[in-house]
Amino acid sequence: MPADRPDRATRGRDLALPSRRWPSLCAVCEGWGRGRVCAECHARFAPLVPRCRRCALQVPAGIALCGGCLAAPPSFDAAFARVDYAYPWDRLIPAFKFRGALDLVPVLVEAVVEACAGREPDAGPPLVVAVPLSDARLRERGFNQAWELARRVAPRLGGRADADLLLRLRDTPHQIALPPGERAGNVRGAFAVEPRRRGELRDRTVALVDDVMTTGSTAAEIAQVLKQAGAARVEVWMVARTPRPEDH
Ligand SMILES: [Zn+2]
Ligand SMILES: [Zn+2]
Repeated sequence: MPADRPDRATRGRDLALPSRRWPSLCAVCEGWGRGRVCAECHARFAPLVPRCRRCALQVPAGIALCGGCLAAPPSFDAAFARVDYAYPWDRLIPAFKFRGALDLVPVLVEAVVEACAGREPDAGPPLVVAVPLSDARLRERGFNQAWELARRVAPRLGGRADADLLLRLRDTPHQIALPPGERAGNVRGAFAVEPRRRGELRDRTVALVDDVMTTGSTAAEIAQVLKQAGAARVEVWMVARTPRPEDH
């Protein structure tokens, strides 16, 4: 990745996809096909399964909410994921995020759009925001993978992408390094709404885009911050949801 200084604290540079045609070699099976994930791999590794309306974990058919959400609903109102964070998505997403594999962007954008097919149409045109990265993380990576998805997904779903509404106030240790019980405390106070723009959120639906949701504690913290600033509804749109450990 180029080491240019990011032009915005929470966003980094906007990455343009090269205009050449993508090689038609499938990134999963390496067979020749159309697109970076061929139709056979898509059918095999992106089956449509029922998911909890609230947190996007897999649920049995005919069940709207998982047990966890029935017992203690998260502060966001709905979550949409296309796949579980498992093979091959646990390779494709890091390839995009850490190694800048931009040829995978169309596949991941399409996955978020497909995930949102079940949205309530009356939820209103959303303001679409990305989970902001810290300055340090942006400098090391050069771009914010969530923003790269958010700005491409927003027009597809009738929303407007906004890179400046949500601020990251401080860096936090990598969530993955922490036991699940400590993750909520780790992100508390890490995000804020740009003070001059709080008024814009009143009665709005906000969609928070991320590549993967693991425990949901980051999304829950951001949803709380958005609602305190007046947002009426917060949805989380993602490519992949990490299954509960006992599911696999
Ligand atoms: Zn394939
Ligand atoms: Zn749930």
